Amino acid sequence: MTQINPYNFVPLKSGPDRFEYPGRLKFHEDRYNGMLKCTLKALGPLISIDQRNPRLYQLIGNNGKPLKFTSGAKRGDLCKVDCFKFLRNSRGQIFLQGTSLKGMVRSVYEAITNSCLKLASTIGYNDVGGHKNTECNDLHNLCSACRLFGTIDGDKLHCQGRVVFIDAFLVEGNLTPEPPISNRSPSGKPFHFLKVLSSPQSRHHSTYGKNGQRNGPIAGRKFYYHHGKVPKFFVNEREACRSIAIEEFAPLGTMFEFEVYVENLDKEEFENFILALELHEGLGHKIGLGKAIGLGSCCITVDRDQSTITKGSGRYQDWNFMKDTTWYSLKKDKEELPYALIEVLRLNKEDDDGVIGYPTNFMNYPNQPIDARGVFSEDTKADEQVPQPNTANTGERLRCPIAVATEPPKEPAPKVGQDQEAAWLKEIYDNELVFVDTQDKEIVRPRQACQGKKKLQEVGKWFVLWGTTASRRVLY
Ligand SMILES: [Zn+2]
Repeated sequence: MTQINPYNFVPLKSGPDRFEYPGRLKFHEDRYNGMLKCTLKALGPLISIDQRNPRLYQLIGNNGKPLKFTSGAKRGDLCKVDCFKFLRNSRGQIFLQGTSLKGMVRSVYEAITNSCLKLASTIGYNDVGGHKNTECNDLHNLCSACRLFGTIDGDKLHCQGRVVFIDAFLVEGNLTPEPPISNRSPSGKPFHFLKVLSSPQSRHHSTYGKNGQRNGPIAGRKFYYHHGKVPKFFVNEREACRSIAIEEFAPLGTMFEFEVYVENLDKEEFENFILALELHEGLGHKIGLGKAIGLGSCCITVDRDQSTITKGSGRYQDWNFMKDTTWYSLKKDKEELPYALIEVLRLNKEDDDGVIGYPTNFMNYPNQPIDARGVFSEDTKADEQVPQPNTANTGERLRCPIAVATEPPKEPAPKVGQDQEAAWLKEIYDNELVFVDTQDKEIVRPRQACQGKKKLQEVGKWFVLWGTTASRRVLY
């Protein structure tokens, strides 16, 4: 099976553009203020741990006896790991921290607006340029995300964010101690062990460098793939010495509720903010622990009726008299999201032909770059580069397809606009794409007229065709 890396990168554009911090005054005309009422739904197991008081859990071996460390400085000592519960407040209420929600939405907003890499480690990459996290150090010159979500730079800069995320409380469903897989630890206790990862780190250029390059640009913004409803992770208790344990999590379907307060957002900020907050259907966010092993997938829905957004000019109008929800129409279309971002946020990644996860042997992490689909491959030097067909063994004529699909996609044909046509990609040639329409008729289109990255040109997938030459991949 093809190995798909647990994460991938959204490439950086040039920039970012920087502007003046607009302040927090609510009275400006044409500025958006108010409250968005949101629901967060777990789309698989989700864990935000209470780091304050882990209890120690003694690992038990297959023979039922306590495990001891067999190597390292602790050799001979009893093998105990930290065991965490879900986060609760002083009243025992289960919740997700507003700061976690804010960070999650910020990372998507950053990718949409080509903002700086505020929280990413960029050490070892010469070419981070304007995206360097130290470049937003002046109130008069901030990237989009720093202007909206806020930023701090020592004593020099205190820029308060204009979006405030309130903690999200559990409102539907319950935490469960049951593992999402039937397997249990040898001692019979339903623990999950999450391995502490030491590799790869951002200095591993083959993964984090653009096209695997050393001393070159960074690959981009990191996002973890979604694994599906039932991530298949299990660390044996015997092998859990370098791990932490989890004894409860929020299962699929659990709902949390929270509010976001927005202050003095201009139209474009508001548009991009709701685009990042409430992702379009088929895309999801990730929160909490264990993102790499498939935990934390979730989606946010904005409740229009319970939200109140007004423009500065209408601040004193009677909100109950005439409820205005026209602000919702400002949410941009899915097509406004960068292609690479859609690719890392899509919830059906598990349908790709491959296994999402770290390679089994961490010591032998592939020394190869990952391509646009997250697959380890040498053929990613440039998106434009077309692999040369290998004719040495087959003796076929040169014009053999680069890729072929024998069956149509399992997904039903997408709905298309009036002057468009749905067709699936059957064959890829150097300069041509061969599609099959819903009437089983073959249609040939020039490859260079296919919109989007070349890596998205995958056989056996649905495309939209229009005009006499154009085509575009349909992303679910
Ligand atoms: Zn910034």
